[in-house]
Amino acid sequence: MTRGRFGRYGGRHVPEPLEEPLSQLADAYDEIGTSEAFQAAFRDHLREYAGRPTPLYHARNLSDRYDAEFYFKREDLLHGGAHKINNCLGQALLATRAGKERLIAETGAGQHGTATAMVGALFGLETEIYQGKKDAERQQMNVFRMRLMGAEVNEVTRGGAGLADAVDAALEDLVANVENTHYLVGSVVGPDPFPRMVRDFQSVIGEEAREQFRDRTGELPDAAVACVGGGSNAMGLFDAFRDDDAVDLYGAEGGGEGPDSTRHAAPLSAGTDDVIHGMETRVIADDVEVHSVSAGLDYPGVGPEHAMFREEGRVSYEAVTDEAALAAFRELSETEGIIPALESSHAVAKAIQLAEDGDHETILVNLSGRGDKDMETAAEKFDFD
Ligand SMILES: *Cc1c(COP(=O)(O)O)cnc(C)c1O
Repeated sequence: MTRGRFGRYGGRHVPEPLEEPLSQLADAYDEIGTSEAFQAAFRDHLREYAGRPTPLYHARNLSDRYDAEFYFKREDLLHGGAHKINNCLGQALLATRAGKERLIAETGAGQHGTATAMVGALFGLETEIYQGKKDAERQQMNVFRMRLMGAEVNEVTRGGAGLADAVDAALEDLVANVENTHYLVGSVVGPDPFPRMVRDFQSVIGEEAREQFRDRTGELPDAAVACVGGGSNAMGLFDAFRDDDAVDLYGAEGGGEGPDSTRHAAPLSAGTDDVIHGMETRVIADDVEVHSVSAGLDYPGVGPEHAMFREEGRVSYEAVTDEAALAAFRELSETEGIIPALESSHAVAKAIQLAEDGDHETILVNLSGRGDKDMETAAEKFDFD
């Protein structure tokens, strides 16, 4: 397969000034990123800074309620509370080795901006985060966290003052400062080399989980489930199982108010083919408002490799509604004392549905993050009186 293409998806659909810097980044990744010295340094940072390996947890209480055994890959226990740090460490390390002195990133709710600010501080890189002013106003705590770690937060007021406008502002910054700046993309999206590079940095999730599962049970799981926003935690899990035909793979998208409504975040199960943010992939149609109860799934596109997996039928992608995700969020909290991120709750909901359908005895779920950041949203939904 041509580098950067996933079947008919992917590619590098960018304006001329970005061609050269992206081609240099791809070369740097192929030469430096795959070297033994780089991989050893990356593994050290994953272990000492991020807290890897994360446990594989057999959730017996939840399993007792259903006719299936649930196993959770605990990415929620990583530094920062989610899988995002895996990718940020990899890219920041590559940026340093490639001689860059500055990181930029865009962020919606602030989770990726916060993870980028962490590695900016760790590696002593000047860091600037672009965030739509509307998002920044709703996420004051994340703005504060980023500033506390030394990042500059640039509140973008143009256009609709949202994520798409922050992406545009960051791209302009990159074109103007390409000599010393690395654009730290937060998921398996965008032009080549980002989708394959971010997948590789996140693939430690599936590598660990596959080995831990086999050590524990002597077998592989019947099903593996992850939530899909841009798709990085899901690719990180699926990559290790792609050739294990006996393992059914499931991606849970943000179904919002339901896939038949005009408010959802499900480009794989209810989208169309198009070019967005430098890649050909599945996108949400124009007449749909991108919406999910979890900010991390609120993205109009999806990684091109997922678009390929969908077409090949290797992974089943299904939309999980806000309501189902909130019910799973509550059920995992009550049964196991683990509060999942609302994003991850979509995967938990899908796993519970699989258990109810009865076709899988063992189900591996990627718990991509913890739910502490979602307390305000949850408090609006649940009433304990
Ligand atoms: C950002 C985020 C996601 C969505 O991003 P992917 O690239 O699809 O993994 C999912 N879960 C959590 C906890 C997140 O913070």
